[in-house]
Amino acid sequence: MMLAADVIARRVRELGATIAQDYAGRAPLLISVLKGSFVFAADLARAVDLPVQVDFLGVRSYGAGTETSGVVQITQDLSQPIEHRDVILVEDIIDTGLTIAHLVDLFRTRNPSTVRVCSLLHKPARSRVPVSIDYLGFTVEDRFLVGYGLDFAGRYRNLPYIGVLEQG
Ligand code: 5GP
Repeated sequence: MMLAADVIARRVRELGATIAQDYAGRAPLLISVLKGSFVFAADLARAVDLPVQVDFLGVRSYGAGTETSGVVQITQDLSQPIEHRDVILVEDIIDTGLTIAHLVDLFRTRNPSTVRVCSLLHKPARSRVPVSIDYLGFTVEDRFLVGYGLDFAGRYRNLPYIGVLEQG
């Protein structure tokens, strides 16, 4: 399975246009969940024709391997309060759903006006908790993916496309 750079770019533009329509007249805060979503968030922010703001949240849910630990650790918090803001959490991939479920719960305690989730990828085969994804790029099969921000042991984030990691 592979998602070519131009296929990703087209889908990101569509997501950006949909978000711009849905939030017309408002100024949503895009929160990039690091590190994996930094490439997607950079492209998405430029595809939303609204006065968006961007912030970053550092999260660690994987070690050096490919299995989730189920433990979500905040490694870097937001730089500003989100009270009364329209927050869009920007994720690279939702796999078990544990990370995003935890983050949505955490953010709701900070009293934003709205919280929505935008994820480039979703792997429904491995879902462990129900997650509502408001904006989704692609549904993918259960393979370990790298590129366009997604890493393996810190590498491959700079690939312009998304591909399956050859393990063996
Ligand atoms: P979840 O908590 O939904 O299981 O996992 C979410 C996080 O796990 C993602 O933000 C990402 O960092 C990592 N992850 C899940 N699947 C993959 C994958 O196929 N490739 C890579 N590189 N990371 C993944």
